[in-house]
Amino acid sequence: MNSEQLARNLYHINQQIKENKAADQNVTLIAVTKTVDIPTMKQLYDLGVRHFAENRVTTFLEKYEALQVYPDIVWHYIGRLQTRQVRSVLPYVDYFHALDRPSLAKEINKRATKPVNCFVQVNVSGESSKAGGSMEATMEWIEDLAQFSQIHIVGLMTMAPIDASDSELHQYFKSLKELQISIAAQKRHHALCHELSMGMSQDYPIAVAEGATFVRVGSALFEAV
Ligand SMILES: *Cc1c(COP(=O)(O)O)cnc(C)c1O
Repeated sequence: MNSEQLARNLYHINQQIKENKAADQNVTLIAVTKTVDIPTMKQLYDLGVRHFAENRVTTFLEKYEALQVYPDIVWHYIGRLQTRQVRSVLPYVDYFHALDRPSLAKEINKRATKPVNCFVQVNVSGESSKAGGSMEATMEWIEDLAQFSQIHIVGLMTMAPIDASDSELHQYFKSLKELQISIAAQKRHHALCHELSMGMSQDYPIAVAEGATFVRVGSALFEAV
């Protein structure tokens, strides 16, 4: 593993974040490590990365177990989760990014032993291949989620279409930001909704410019490593 290249990539991404964010905007870089091994994750840790994300249950559990020596890692789960998988990962997840349907909310609430930080996934583009509710449906769904005492809606999450133009990306991210602000303005106890998880390798500078507070970056970190 080429750790100098890894350090350069990380530096570049942090610079991009800095250049695109507002002065009072806190942005957390989440390293999406689904394509790399445990030694690479340790290198990232040594470079200062503390937020890691996985999208498969088995790999998540393997990596979580192997990295228990670093108790200050914050673990994010970003994949689609089947209800039958909830039980095995839930105890180890600090942030769950893909709350996309009522049956999943019900199961998380049932299995949780402490409040779970969740992002409600929103399908900003309306593509049928994407998970998450529409922009219009999200507000109402979040009201419904108040019945689940173990679910804390910390924010909204989205994945933009890979073929979107820069101006479309600005538009998608801007409208998600507006939705997040209007939900947060309701000051609901179960849905403080201060955060926005948006931006991946292809589009994170634009997402940051439009107000992202968490970016989920994988391939850009590992280029040429
Ligand atoms: C893989 C993945 C990412 C990171 O994608 P890159 O293009 O590799 O940066 C972000 N979010 C989700 C939900 C993913 O599955």
